[in-house]
Amino acid sequence: NAPAHFRALLTASRRHGERVFLRYEDERVTFEDHFRRAAALAGRLAGEYGVAKGDRVAIAMRNYPEWVVAFSAILAAGAVAVPLNAWWTRRELAFGLADSGTAVLIADGERARLMAGADVRIIVTRPDGSPPPGAAVLADLIGEPTAEVALPEVDLTPDDPATIFYTSGTTGRPKGALGSQRNLGQAPLTVGYSLSRGAAMRGHDPRRAGRRRVTLLTVPLFHVTGCFGTMLSAMFGGTTVVLMYKWDAGQALRLIERERITGVTGTPTNAWQLMAHPGFGDHDVASLGTLFYGGAPAPPRLLTRIRDRLPGRAPSNVYGMTETSALIIDNGGGAYSDRPDSVGRPVPVVDVRIIAPGGANARPGEVGELCVRGAPVVGGYWNRPEATAESFAGGWFRTGDLARVGEDGLVYIVDRVKDMVIRGGENVYCAEVEAALFEHPAVRDAAVIGVPHDELGEEVGAVIRTAPGAPLAAGDLTGFLRGRIAPFKIPAHYWFRQGELPRNPGGKIVKDLLRREVLGAT
Ligand code: ATP
Ligand code: MG
Repeated sequence: NAPAHFRALLTASRRHGERVFLRYEDERVTFEDHFRRAAALAGRLAGEYGVAKGDRVAIAMRNYPEWVVAFSAILAAGAVAVPLNAWWTRRELAFGLADSGTAVLIADGERARLMAGADVRIIVTRPDGSPPPGAAVLADLIGEPTAEVALPEVDLTPDDPATIFYTSGTTGRPKGALGSQRNLGQAPLTVGYSLSRGAAMRGHDPRRAGRRRVTLLTVPLFHVTGCFGTMLSAMFGGTTVVLMYKWDAGQALRLIERERITGVTGTPTNAWQLMAHPGFGDHDVASLGTLFYGGAPAPPRLLTRIRDRLPGRAPSNVYGMTETSALIIDNGGGAYSDRPDSVGRPVPVVDVRIIAPGGANARPGEVGELCVRGAPVVGGYWNRPEATAESFAGGWFRTGDLARVGEDGLVYIVDRVKDMVIRGGENVYCAEVEAALFEHPAVRDAAVIGVPHDELGEEVGAVIRTAPGAPLAAGDLTGFLRGRIAPFKIPAHYWFRQGELPRNPGGKIVKDLLRREVLGAT
């Protein structure tokens, strides 16, 4: 059953006692350690920091164990946790603090220094030198909490606000998704459905092999996949999360071997780099049973690649977004691997609906906007009444993604509404063209964009990252795509490069930036 609110989940997690909850480099944090530190910090927040129910407290940190302690403490005090993007600059962090109306910030040394002098009280961890003036050091604040430490008193209901997670800002300024205690409690369940589907499908349940789950988290805790999908699920299930300071495929392989990792969660880029790493064959990855990748469109051949590298395992392409608190659609551990272009089926706690351009429900196979409702879906955006009205009217959340559902009930993500290219009145879905381009062996990465055209409105353009030593010309790709996709979808313009395409930390190509790079300011 879903916990009614975070405090219930945190209290229940204590029964896992001396089991390891978090691993970071050589550090081990047990469930009991975590509870004590979180409860002690919650007491200080409620005491000398005057944090009351509903107040916002922000976190700006790398994936340290203290990130989790801070998150738990903020929620245990009845406040609203505001995880900020640790890659943000001072200006962007200041936006997050001001937008959320945050009075207290819990930060690591680097970000505490970045925010020195800002109008916010700072609690710093790993100060790495002397803490910025006025900042309190987390370890000094909580000392060595004993078993008697208790959570401060506060009454919470499932409808109370719990979190403000910022969207990735792929299509504009990041929006704060305001999640309730109920939304948060649902997230571990959606992951549980997905895991058990995958495990049942592939016979790869670590518990059956007498082992507990140990998940390697390759993405930041400040997005819902890391925080809810991975960390909170582990807190709920009494399992272990291994944290990394920064993504590195070679390091990930070493960790899989050393820590006997049973599952990896990350972006399609992470999964791809892991499979492609030249040292892959040198590591014992026998413990690895599941591989979750999502958050961005994945080339269909990624699934095949994982299948080749890790036969018999359960790779899952998962779809979800900040506003749905975690994954909502997943392909069941590769159960539908004959359809590697599909993200699979919705988890049972959500309803999905495809709205065709006219506003009616789409017919099977017809493309429309994917809409979702259900317990993990947030109620709206913080401080953004217009965006809330636009996306949350009528009880359904409009995802901004175009999708179709086949006769077989499988969901196919087609494109973002904002990315779709309309060429002479015909819709061209970038993701489809990108998937076709990915099939070419010399294509390392591809991004399709609309190029303004007087007569057609837009033409199709593609930015291609080529494999080293494999030069490509436009004609090669045009020939390759003929017969794969309709002629009007074949790019009329190509830009070739060897360097990376601009991706945000979530693994998504920032198309606005790319358009400006190749087309100039428009
Ligand atoms: P913003 O809303 O600020 O523009 P964003 O939508 O990128 O940014 P997130 O909530 O981090 O912010 O990302 C959710 C989006 O990521 C989805 O709406 C979808 O476009 C994309 N996405 C997530 N998972 C998948 C997947 N498995 N396949 C394809 N696309 C995915
Ligand atoms: Mg979005």
